[in-house]
Amino acid sequence: MQLLKCSLINFTIISVFIDDISQFDPKKILVRNGEVTILVDKLSIKDNEIILYLKSEVNIKLPGSVSIYNASLPINYYPLYSTDEFNLRYYTDEELGIQYTREHTLFKLWSPAASYVNLLLYESGDPDSPEKPRKFKLQEKSGLWEVRVRGNLKGYFYTFELKVYDDVHEIVDPYARACGINGLRGAVIDLKETDPPGYIHHAPPHFDSSTDAIIYEINIRDLSIHPDSGIKSKGKYLALTEENTATSKGISTGLAHILELGATHVQLMPVFDYSFKSVDEKHPYRYNWGYDPQNYNIPEGSYAADAYNPCSRVYELKKAINALHKHGLSVIMDVVYNHIFKYEDSNLEKLFPGYYFRQNDDGTYCNGTGCGNDIASERPMVRKFILDSLLYWAREYKIDGFRFDLMGILDVKTMNEIGEKLGAGGLGLILYGEGWYMNTNLKDEDKAGMYNSHKLEHIGFYNDSIRDAVKGSVFNSLERGFVSGTPGLEDTVKFNLMGCSIDAFGKSAIFTSPGQCINYSSCHDNYTLWDKLRLSCPEASEEELKHMNKLADGIILTSMGVPFIHSGADFCRTKNGIENSYNSTDAVNRMDWHRKHHYLDVFEYYKGLIALRKSHSAFRLYDSRQIREHMEFIYTGRNSTAYILKNHANGDPWKDIIVIYNGSRDTVYVPLSQGNWNVVVDKFNAGTEPLYCINDNNVSVEPISMKILYLE
Ligand code: CA
Repeated sequence: MQLLKCSLINFTIISVFIDDISQFDPKKILVRNGEVTILVDKLSIKDNEIILYLKSEVNIKLPGSVSIYNASLPINYYPLYSTDEFNLRYYTDEELGIQYTREHTLFKLWSPAASYVNLLLYESGDPDSPEKPRKFKLQEKSGLWEVRVRGNLKGYFYTFELKVYDDVHEIVDPYARACGINGLRGAVIDLKETDPPGYIHHAPPHFDSSTDAIIYEINIRDLSIHPDSGIKSKGKYLALTEENTATSKGISTGLAHILELGATHVQLMPVFDYSFKSVDEKHPYRYNWGYDPQNYNIPEGSYAADAYNPCSRVYELKKAINALHKHGLSVIMDVVYNHIFKYEDSNLEKLFPGYYFRQNDDGTYCNGTGCGNDIASERPMVRKFILDSLLYWAREYKIDGFRFDLMGILDVKTMNEIGEKLGAGGLGLILYGEGWYMNTNLKDEDKAGMYNSHKLEHIGFYNDSIRDAVKGSVFNSLERGFVSGTPGLEDTVKFNLMGCSIDAFGKSAIFTSPGQCINYSSCHDNYTLWDKLRLSCPEASEEELKHMNKLADGIILTSMGVPFIHSGADFCRTKNGIENSYNSTDAVNRMDWHRKHHYLDVFEYYKGLIALRKSHSAFRLYDSRQIREHMEFIYTGRNSTAYILKNHANGDPWKDIIVIYNGSRDTVYVPLSQGNWNVVVDKFNAGTEPLYCINDNNVSVEPISMKILYLE
């Protein structure tokens, strides 16, 4: 006989599955908990499951096992941690982490599984330098451990030493807000001293609607590392504080480039502390995007001027955000709560095994993320951890929005609490994420995927439908899309032009409003827009590829929803055909400012479209009712499409606006009503001022191009 599964479903109830119930003898069952035997009061049997009702509770600080004859299995405590009984006993809304004053520092940690916890205080932040720490014992009350240490501890580093079951671990406080080199020891700092001058009183830029945002996704290192970037702090946070930087040929770079382009929001790829195994902060030669979190509440050290000094990374990231705000740019942080770098080694798993990471019904760890673990966001203390972390970044760093990596791993309730506290109903931040369907152990109706968008009103989602329609699927490098000459996608494009928020063209609305729809043609993942077009259209000339590139993001910038541009797409960014460059070299990943010089006409085109979108509210409808009222399609034939925005849409000064996209290799003719139609965008130019006027019964649109006209 074999025990197949053994789980604690309440403090006094154990479920045991065995392979052959006919051999089972109730007298031979033995429940052990540490050194103690727990007596079974009664049991029930159904199929091959035995439910044991115990005479006393299982102590979760000690390991447990069930034996029948010679077969034995450890008890998995995971199911207990989802019960109301567990939460009633152990949930706490107390502030965790450290509370520093010059007189004393209070340390708080949560772990119902720990049997003792010590605070270890060090003078060095580097575990490689031998040192005997000062030790302080923490006291427990219902899983909450704390100790108050007298004196001014500023400048000390700390860890917690704790015993869980038979193991003693030394871990970094998951709530630590500063750390030593490589994030291996927390640091006691005075956060007030990390505020740049004028920081406290500066107000981030204000936005009424997410559809007013134009998001530009950047990577701290990529933005400035090019040898001719003209930026001094190459690859560092402080690069974002350098104004008016340019290449040797006078092409604007870094912050000056973003301002010249006109984006409103900068999305920073991971700036939280990511694993030292990806980038060693002592020798940050290796490159990594950083989607492998180590310390959620601390900035990454390799972007800091001095990663040994715990204040450096905090101060410099604040200074960079402050600089962006000063220029009217909002800052969105890319957050990766869905998984952690190697759960076995993580502080969270060592602190409380089986609590932070989601398990399958068979007791194995879920791996919907493909990174070996999925965060159990549905558990109250995990939800609190995520919310506390977001609120901390929003308040302390004045972050204006969050982008949730693999948001489909997280649960609807958590995302809604985030929406209520940080979104439109709360702090007014912009919130969106990857709403892909994820294979994790949550009910489908509880996953924060885009198919549940109606339950998540304050949350936006990346729109993969428009991404794949304009340029071909990301899963098939050779597939072409609307801009690369594929007919038959007209209805899909039209559905997307309305922010996927209207039932039309045989499709049901995906989003409740265009504000939930994050439109993009490319991002850091997959091929760059340019590389995808080049791969899928090997016969196309460079000139044709440029027009496809412009048309792809031209559609993104004139669709209803929230436009998102991958940095450098505005000058035909290439990664030399590398599809996943997460750990490629700087030469592959960096923004090549010489390329901007070469493709300056493409950059100017993006700039013109962005200026147009910003100055005309008709392109920024925030409600699906406005779309129904003001937006109408004009039939144009295959591989092309057009729409009209009628009657001063969203209070726009222009009465009627016609937008035409032609992905085909033929000229398209679109009928015009009588009047003087001013052209502001054509194949070569884009902006807000009329290029020329058309007074005719139709307008022609050249192959692979777009045109925008208005009637006053
Ligand atoms: Ca790090």
